[in-house]
Amino acid sequence: MKKKFIIAGLLFAAFGLTKMTAQINFGDKAIGAVQKGVTGFTFSNADAAKLSKEAVDKLDAEHEIAGPSDGYTLRLNRVFGKHASGDGFTLNYKVYKLKEVNAFATADGSVRVYSGLMDIMDDNELIAVIGHEIGHVANNDSRDAIRAAYQKEALMDGVASQSATVATVTDSQLGKIGSAIIDSKYSRKQESEADLFAYNFMKKNGYDVNAEESAFRILAKMSEGSQASFIDQMMSSHPDSQKRADEAKKRAEKDGLYKPYVQQKIVNTVPAATTTKKATTTTKKKTTTAKKK
Ligand SMILES: [Zn+2]
Repeated sequence: MKKKFIIAGLLFAAFGLTKMTAQINFGDKAIGAVQKGVTGFTFSNADAAKLSKEAVDKLDAEHEIAGPSDGYTLRLNRVFGKHASGDGFTLNYKVYKLKEVNAFATADGSVRVYSGLMDIMDDNELIAVIGHEIGHVANNDSRDAIRAAYQKEALMDGVASQSATVATVTDSQLGKIGSAIIDSKYSRKQESEADLFAYNFMKKNGYDVNAEESAFRILAKMSEGSQASFIDQMMSSHPDSQKRADEAKKRAEKDGLYKPYVQQKIVNTVPAATTTKKATTTTKKKTTTAKKK
């Protein structure tokens, strides 16, 4: 029952917020409560969305983003584009060209996928990982995380005590909040629930659910090898990959869907048919935007 809810309301809960323009205003009472360490102060989904958007905009400005005709972007469009908008919600997604194996989604519906993740995951595995991150948004984990970061970086500094609006967050505080988004530490329960969300998302949309187990096996294997440093971030925020792979497998078995997963070919290059020139390099260091159009 809960599953259905979450899936049906994937947006609703968090993604529809991008349209909201509500002012972020905690009010004196809420601020006082926070300063006294009282939890549960008013921090609405709209507040989380607005602050997340600001932090993500800053992260975007600091990272190399794959351009519209980059192979990574084209692949993400193909794999994930159809899930990016629906009734009342819009997710905005981009690829960060970084070797790290990571992905995150924020309360404003921003999804950021690192090219390093796309290098090692096939389409189904990618959906499993992105689905997991979206699960954190749909389950309001992302909202709670940014609220915690805001409390830590802004309110606890006393900077915002003069004013009740998030607009008082400084650029450097916003940077710290951005880092907190990337390194979000979620509880084991939140992780399991996000895994379940990904599984159900895949099942509902007709993907091979066994790719979820496979994705976690890959992460577990990587953490033991020489590439471990690239997955530090994702591993630190998503521990116990082996165990979570086992859980994904169990879910698939229970549903009668289990079958050992075979990874498909991973192609992050621009499809030949869409390029006008032959033998152009597929990954350029810097891609200018919208040059073709
Ligand atoms: Zn997670």
